[in-house]
Amino acid sequence: MRDLRISVTDRCNFRCPYCMPAEVFGERYQFLPKPDILTFEEIERLARIFVTLGVRKLRLTGGEPLVRAEIPALVERLSKVKGVEDLTLTTNGYLLPKYSDSLKRAGLQRITVSLDSLDDEVFRRMNGRDYTKEHVLRGIQAAEEVDLRPIKINCVVQRGVNDHTIIDLARHFKGTGHIVRYIEFMDVGNLNGWNLSQVVTAREIVDRINTELSIEPALPTYRGEVASRYVYSDGSGEIGVIASVSAPFCGDCTRARLSTDGKLVTCLFAKGGADLRGPMRNGASDHQLRELIKNIWDRRTDRYSEERSAHTDLSGSAHAGRKIEMFQIGG
Ligand code: SAM
Repeated sequence: MRDLRISVTDRCNFRCPYCMPAEVFGERYQFLPKPDILTFEEIERLARIFVTLGVRKLRLTGGEPLVRAEIPALVERLSKVKGVEDLTLTTNGYLLPKYSDSLKRAGLQRITVSLDSLDDEVFRRMNGRDYTKEHVLRGIQAAEEVDLRPIKINCVVQRGVNDHTIIDLARHFKGTGHIVRYIEFMDVGNLNGWNLSQVVTAREIVDRINTELSIEPALPTYRGEVASRYVYSDGSGEIGVIASVSAPFCGDCTRARLSTDGKLVTCLFAKGGADLRGPMRNGASDHQLRELIKNIWDRRTDRYSEERSAHTDLSGSAHAGRKIEMFQIGG
């Protein structure tokens, strides 16, 4: 266990159809009530315990982490936890102009910003709101100005939706020091109508980019790195591809996930998690919580992505039962 992803809210200001489709998450959708959500004190306490079990990297996610009130105050608490070597956050970027400075001052080290396309028509469709790329580019610029680097740009690639714009995205960020990471469209959750035919494999993404911008494979920076790295042959930077569907990496997974309501989730595709909030609020000691987490982790057998073909019928729809949604546990 090296990496803990903490979902700080189940709410989001975007309605990406592949994650939180607007027709499901409308005005009347019931998000978690406040008492169910872990407080900053509780998140910090659990983070300290996770660190004693090997965690060195914390990533705040969601939902959209920047819609959680006072988020810099949480960053500040976590930045003081001894043993944390890497403190980062994944965001859609919309609120970064407002928060980048306070996040940096609070101790955030770097940031990942999601941006699926630079074509406004495509991007509007993919964020489910009427936001243009300028909203996100302004956020990226704000992160640059306060040096939240290296900046990673996440792009989920969906065939027939944004795959014709992936080279433009690469070209835009080539030479900036930012790392675009293309993610295969995954069958997370139950709401995105996932189908294998919508997946553009990492191989195809690499081949397509390579036709216009020469790239070559590079070694991973550390064991268990989710993205395969490619560097531009002219030395002007790198990109990454995340082959979670076509080449799963369950065997190397060192990531634990903490849901907004305090469940320990051991796989992005899990059907549920183990409640830590209940025992914590009922007076469990740090030692007892540590043992609970350790037991769950030691018994972990998840390898959903490796078994996906067994879960997937001929039409390509997963039928493994209801899974946790991405916005509840973050990416
Ligand atoms: N709101 C933040 C954001 O937009 O980055 C953080 C949460 S979001 C769930 C984290 C990442 O998961 C984003 O880059 C998003 O594009 C990605 N994601 C969501 N659903 C996905 C799917 N079905 N397949 C692949 N990536 C997905």
